[in-house]
Amino acid sequence: MGGGCINEAVLFTLDDGERVFAKTHANAGALPNMFSSEAAGLAALADADSSLYVPRPIDSGPDYIVMEAIAPAPGSALGSEGGLAEKLGQGLAELHRGSARDRYGFDCDNYLGATPQANGWMDEWLAFWAERRFKPMLALVRDEGELDRLGAKLLDGLDTVLDGPDEPSALLHGDLWSGNATMDAQGRAVIFDPAAYWGHREAEFGMTRLFGFGSRFEAAYEAVYPLAAGAARRIKVYTLHHVLNHLHLFGGGYYDSSVRLLREIV
Ligand code: ADP
Repeated sequence: MGGGCINEAVLFTLDDGERVFAKTHANAGALPNMFSSEAAGLAALADADSSLYVPRPIDSGPDYIVMEAIAPAPGSALGSEGGLAEKLGQGLAELHRGSARDRYGFDCDNYLGATPQANGWMDEWLAFWAERRFKPMLALVRDEGELDRLGAKLLDGLDTVLDGPDEPSALLHGDLWSGNATMDAQGRAVIFDPAAYWGHREAEFGMTRLFGFGSRFEAAYEAVYPLAAGAARRIKVYTLHHVLNHLHLFGGGYYDSSVRLLREIV
């Protein structure tokens, strides 16, 4: 199969007719625990209580993961008709509301795309975001120039920019964009390829607003679990994180968009 950003993907039909999906990576040694951490993320999301469907991991090893295959909606490999945006918005709100905890993190480290992402558990969101997300990302994109200067300034004022009402943590997909969601043959919204952890739910929108699902998705989310006042300001910081990750992974034009977004926030 084509379509993945990082891995080789294969669909198998077993002797009993069951279909399973597998991913392998030619250079898996460079990305330790990539597939076991993906399996842990899928399992956590599949165990959570929401109307989203998440493929069950079946097995994983250093260089492969096998999971339940998604049967795509008829007529499209990546179904997006039939109200995918609304179903995703509603299901994501159910997931976030139903998975509340009082700590931030995950049992294992994982990856955002191919970028290692440290987790562990912390009690404070601001500290978790600064130490486990934003600082390590800034270190990966250092330019000895404007980006460093603005990044340091934002880090200094992070408590002000992210200030908002206290909310419990929520299980996040963590990398939710239009390439990581589809409609299946039963009309369910399916999410896959996560970078899961318990975080502030607004962080999920950092990615959905970058390459996501638009206003019908957001209206469906808000109907179930409305965002707090000031969310738009805070979500810009979370979007910046994904833009910086794209700069790290893909370079090019993401430098200018990173600096532009940093200037706007700072
Ligand atoms: P990568 O880790 O390389 O980004 P993805 O997990 O996004 O790979 O999967 C690549 C493609 O394979 C997806 O875009 C989707 O079309 C398809 N896919 C992903 N998971 C499944 C699944 N469980 N069953 C069937 N197809 C899948």
